[in-house]
Amino acid sequence: MTTPARSPEATTAAPPANDPASFSRLPLSPAVLANLQQLGYERMTPIQAASLPLALAGADLIAQAKTGSGKTAAFGLPLLANLNPRRFAVQALVLCPTRELADQVTQEIRRLARAEDNIKILTLCGGATMRPQLASLEHGAHIVVGTPGRILDHLSRDSLKLDALNTLVLDEADRMLDMGFAEDIATVLKACPKQRQTLLFSATYPEGIATLAKKFMRDPKEVKLTERHAASKIRQRFYEVTESQRLHAVGLLLNHFRPVSTLAFCNTKQQCRDLVAVLQAQGIAALELHGDLDQRERDQVLVQFANRSCSVLVATDVAARGLDIAQLEAVVNVDITPDIEVHTHRIGRTGRGDEQGWAFSLASVDDMGRVGRIDEMQGTASQWHPLSELTPQSDEPMKAPMVTLQILGGRKEKIRPGDVLGALTKELGFDAAQIGKISVNEFSTYVAVDRSIARDALRGLNAGKVKGRSVKVRSL
Ligand code: AMP
Repeated sequence: MTTPARSPEATTAAPPANDPASFSRLPLSPAVLANLQQLGYERMTPIQAASLPLALAGADLIAQAKTGSGKTAAFGLPLLANLNPRRFAVQALVLCPTRELADQVTQEIRRLARAEDNIKILTLCGGATMRPQLASLEHGAHIVVGTPGRILDHLSRDSLKLDALNTLVLDEADRMLDMGFAEDIATVLKACPKQRQTLLFSATYPEGIATLAKKFMRDPKEVKLTERHAASKIRQRFYEVTESQRLHAVGLLLNHFRPVSTLAFCNTKQQCRDLVAVLQAQGIAALELHGDLDQRERDQVLVQFANRSCSVLVATDVAARGLDIAQLEAVVNVDITPDIEVHTHRIGRTGRGDEQGWAFSLASVDDMGRVGRIDEMQGTASQWHPLSELTPQSDEPMKAPMVTLQILGGRKEKIRPGDVLGALTKELGFDAAQIGKISVNEFSTYVAVDRSIARDALRGLNAGKVKGRSVKVRSL
């Protein structure tokens, strides 16, 4: 269940120019092409190969694509191509359903924009304080990425002006509609200049999308990809359980397959809570993601899951919206969802890119009708395995490979990831390979360290200094 590492050497061999998926077939500048090669983007992904020729020629697009398909570059490259870096005004706007997605999109566009100097990208999302956003807007930006509500807020305050806009992107449009943003989106669209390119990306194509497109897009071209091989990368297994076995079965699955990161879906918040309690009692690092968490708590849970110090994230479908985790070895349907589309969406979160993923579903006799509908939709017969097949791979409880240390102090204290890495490697002598993700938030910094050094690193950081200052550190 390991991810094949993308070796830097692999990027040096340029693909042959006659390769139909080669980026060099596109009207992109040599600097952009060189940057793509440096990023390790050797060939276009299917959605890129289908969208980029049309979008770079200026067409409006409705593209059906999921996270993980390379869709950000499919709209990021065209919006950058439309940009005049010398004109200091907002020329591209990307609307996203959630802050997490907006952050990811910003990061990806930033990587793609490295070919050009000084392109400013700003993220504007709800949940964050207004004042820094207003200050950043005063400094100006070329590209804005944000959530509809907050963008609308800035438009009504006149802090964001869209007269120079030439590209508008709606990312995960179906989810934005699901979340009730239809009216906000329409209002933002009305505030955009008529002369513009509109790129709409969506995993599904519900009625509302067609309505939006008809009203606000110019002769949009549709790009659809059949996901034939997606199913084969996800290995689905069903286990029949009684209600009293259901939660216990999750522990059996985890101890048998030992995935490093698992997302477990329950249909209710209460079920989430109960499952977390059962898993924690077995010594498995499990956390619940639910709607009652405030932004800081949610960030803390997500940091721990993304840096591999929490093995299992337990969530309802609503709470997991907007969540994008790159490496997810397994998804568990603790409860079968009554909505088949939701089932597909859930299991599609694993087996991304070149990776294989597991999708386990626990079904009781009462769930069989639902499973039948899933089979029908997928056109395959579900594979059933007995619970008795699941045997623990070791006597040791499953432990997450990393531990998160929280340093009280973040951007406000001007801490940068390099300061933390320096303190751990140069001052305390740990090997950089033992240090994982470092995330600096406004008031806190989170660093993942190898479980084997967690205790010493905690002691060392508390006794030593970060950025010349004593800091308080705790283990999460
Ligand atoms: P996305 O669907 O935009 O979230 O992209 C998924 C991941 O694939 C991101 O980490 C991208 O950096 C990466 N990616 C996008 N396009 C390519 C490509 N052509 N080759 C390799 N990796 C890519």
